[in-house]
Amino acid sequence: MAKAGHLDMLVEDWDMVPKYWAEYCQEHRAHPVARLFFYVAGFRGDWKALKQVFNFDRRQGIKNCSLLQVCWKCSATKGSHDVADVACAFTDTRGCARFWADLHTQCPWKYLPAYATLPGFEISAIVPDLLHVWHLGVGRDVLGSSLAIMLSNGVFGPGSAMNKLMEATNRLRRFASSSGYSLRLKKLTKNKLNWKQRCYPELKSSGYDTFVVHQWVMNELHTFPESLPADLIACLWASNHFLSIWTNAGRWLSPAEHANVKEAGKIFTQAYCALAKKAARDQVRLYKVRPKLHLLHHLARQETRKNPHYFATWMDEDGLKKLVKVLKLSDARSAEKRLLQRWLLGLPDAWKQ
Ligand SMILES: [Zn+2]
Repeated sequence: MAKAGHLDMLVEDWDMVPKYWAEYCQEHRAHPVARLFFYVAGFRGDWKALKQVFNFDRRQGIKNCSLLQVCWKCSATKGSHDVADVACAFTDTRGCARFWADLHTQCPWKYLPAYATLPGFEISAIVPDLLHVWHLGVGRDVLGSSLAIMLSNGVFGPGSAMNKLMEATNRLRRFASSSGYSLRLKKLTKNKLNWKQRCYPELKSSGYDTFVVHQWVMNELHTFPESLPADLIACLWASNHFLSIWTNAGRWLSPAEHANVKEAGKIFTQAYCALAKKAARDQVRLYKVRPKLHLLHHLARQETRKNPHYFATWMDEDGLKKLVKVLKLSDARSAEKRLLQRWLLGLPDAWKQ
């Protein structure tokens, strides 16, 4: 039962368990009872959830905010306020950037959250959410800029923007169906890409579509290798590398996987920030840089071998979608009660599976 349920996630290698028990029972013949200890390895959630649970006083995504620190793990700032703020800007991709010296040394709250009183709690246990950081964040920026450049470079043929977008949509759909990926995105449009004057391109996609479009763009590059700047190709390759390691690895990364992620993460952040700096110098709106890039930087260079894929909120978000569907169908005055009743009704079937 444990093997089929959530406990499966707690055991790194089930093949080791029988040997462990055999040896344990041999040693403790008189009392073959083991005392099991559990500890919290990590907290997960998007920024909003973590901020509410941990009373973070660091702000992210709030305009005209006097507090410009953007990270609960270190003292990185937005770098747009004053000299002190610029000195700790999160866009500093050097290994000796000033904010790394403060890693996990500051309390990112004014009021102590209840979870912080748990035995063994550490700030490092609060893990950035890969789904929001990459698939609904940085990944959208990288792919938005890539597609905007490809559309301008003639990769999708000559003609009007409308024709190019139609050609791109057709090729994307063909790629998705031949690779067995289900695509939610119906078609690529200027709005979907935020491809407008005075705006940064951003692919407004669902989390899974970000993955599919990433794979498709990499596939297009086989035919049009010259269509994107070398640094952007490096970004696409490096991000695909660390994402596929995380997706295919176990709960804990092996030392080789950990080292690989670190190196690919370094290539990605340095290349992306270099592209963004160049675009800013040339006054071109490409390569949006947002604080999520800094959280991705943390995930890639973390000292622990915890796999962030296991702390991503894919299932949580899917669950929320289902709950909201029920809530929308219920009367507002009794919505919470109806939701719980329906959930209880579904439980026996869920346990049967
Ligand atoms: Zn940080």
